[in-house]
Amino acid sequence: MKYRLGENLEMVIDEAGLRSVQCAQCGTGLGASPMNWQEKAKTWTLPVAWAGPLMSGADSHLEQLLCPSCGTLFETRIKEVRTEDT
Ligand SMILES: [Zn+2]
Repeated sequence: MKYRLGENLEMVIDEAGLRSVQCAQCGTGLGASPMNWQEKAKTWTLPVAWAGPLMSGADSHLEQLLCPSCGTLFETRIKEVRTEDT
């Protein structure tokens, strides 16, 4: 049985009840946890200005989570850049 976790991400439950998260495009396994699949995904960091001119002054960057095998995009999120106060 398969459940969609996102457009290109799915949870598979086999006959024994074992769960695994996988890429919906190529089937590459990303572990058993619906929460920790991000740790196995490939991460690509982009300047936040790529999100559009309104974001160009923001103190953050874009992080894209990709399939480590076929490169399908799973998720894009904004990460704040933390600066140390000295
Ligand atoms: Zn894939």
